[in-house]
Amino acid sequence: MNHFPLFLDVRGRPVLVVGAGLVAERKIALLCAAGAQVVVVALQVRPQVQVRAQAGEITLYQGEFEPGQLDSAWLVFAATGDPVTNRAVADAAQARRLWCNVVDDAELSSAQVPAIVDRSPVVVAISSGGAAPVVARHLRERIEAQVEPAVGSLAALLAHRRSAIRAARPELRARRALYRWALEGPVLAALRCDLPQRAEALLSDALARRTMPIQGRVLLVGAGPGAPGLLTLRGLRALNEADVILHDRLVSTEVLALARRDALRISVGKVPGEDHEATQRRIHALLLQHARRGRCVVRLKGGDPLVYGRGGEELEFLRGQGVAYEVVPGITAALACAAYAGIPLTHRDHASTVTLATAHRRSDLGGFVGEGETRVYYMGVERLPMLCAELVRQGLPAATPCALVENGSRPGQRTLHARLGDLAVAARRYAVCSPALLIVGEVADLGTQLAWFGETLDADSSVAFAPSAPQAIAA
Ligand code: SAH
Repeated sequence: MNHFPLFLDVRGRPVLVVGAGLVAERKIALLCAAGAQVVVVALQVRPQVQVRAQAGEITLYQGEFEPGQLDSAWLVFAATGDPVTNRAVADAAQARRLWCNVVDDAELSSAQVPAIVDRSPVVVAISSGGAAPVVARHLRERIEAQVEPAVGSLAALLAHRRSAIRAARPELRARRALYRWALEGPVLAALRCDLPQRAEALLSDALARRTMPIQGRVLLVGAGPGAPGLLTLRGLRALNEADVILHDRLVSTEVLALARRDALRISVGKVPGEDHEATQRRIHALLLQHARRGRCVVRLKGGDPLVYGRGGEELEFLRGQGVAYEVVPGITAALACAAYAGIPLTHRDHASTVTLATAHRRSDLGGFVGEGETRVYYMGVERLPMLCAELVRQGLPAATPCALVENGSRPGQRTLHARLGDLAVAARRYAVCSPALLIVGEVADLGTQLAWFGETLDADSSVAFAPSAPQAIAA
């Protein structure tokens, strides 16, 4: 290690910034946020820095840098963009044994500014010692995504109640159990909803009790359509909190790979010979069993958990059993498949309404498809002939454009474009398999122009063609 990590208490202490350009402006903002008494010396000053000076937040000297300006400083930043001045600042700081950061010059700097993830009062700082700032920034992005936003408010609450916690839990072990409970349970959930008083009440309640309540909970999480980049950040954090993950077969292995390594994973898809009701009962029993043992259970479903996923029934069951739950939405197949097939579900010239429907039963089809409507069908591919025939019977023209998106957002994505009257035959010819989603309506045709991902098949030309645009890499 060639740099010593350190957090400085700069509150009320003079810090000199030489320069008032864009880079200096960012440093000034950060220093002000940390409570430093900022003194700026610069020849040219950006308007935002002027505004701060006028508001009395900083002291501004417009003119040349002089070493004497360092006399009262605790810390120095050289951010002028002029190497000669920057060096003069660094030399003057060195002579006075002051730590000095020269922007973009690791050689001249005696102090480095890390990349940070700010969850004040919790701050994560990452440094590559000036060797590779890109690496530090990359790590920062990853950590930013992983660290719960409410963790700062939690740390502040725990600090505020520190003496009460010590008094109620004098033993270190008991205190640790309380902190762990606070980090994982309802206190954090309340802070996440921006309910600080509720969080405080929950904490007081727990402190008044001798033992910690068992606090199993279920997070009903949408995994999105398959591409790991389409999982939400909250979903990713949930996967990292999980003790147990109950997932459907539709959930991609790439998404599962993002979960905590030591989480117990249970595939709860339908097993041969079992009917849907029995499957659902088995899932309910598993949810209850693990939650009652105090575990954090993630119920992971493809797409969005409350769109054709029986998520609603699971919530009803949990509510009935008094188990705490949260719901993390996911990108549902309709939105993902449309986006990845270049099909705008609404378009000023073609459609203003979108209906999500399923083709599980004839009675589910959703009635007549109206003008200016895009209809999206979630379904088993085997029901396609019935669906197409039924829509034609209801009066939808056989020439209505359709797009059948197979494996949307996944590496093997194929989109079959056909007219309603030809679709079932074309789907058989191309052996389209589940999971596949059907988009019916004028907008479907736009995909032949706007496709950017996967393979596009055209029932009319009977030749597969790749989109003209270069293949984008799935997130
Ligand atoms: N809750 C899920 C839907 C579950 S129903 C969601 O919100 O997306 C299962 C149906 O969703 C499949 O039969 C298929 O029609 C559709 N589906 C899910 N993922 C898909 C994908 N990656 N590509 C195409 N269709 C998909």
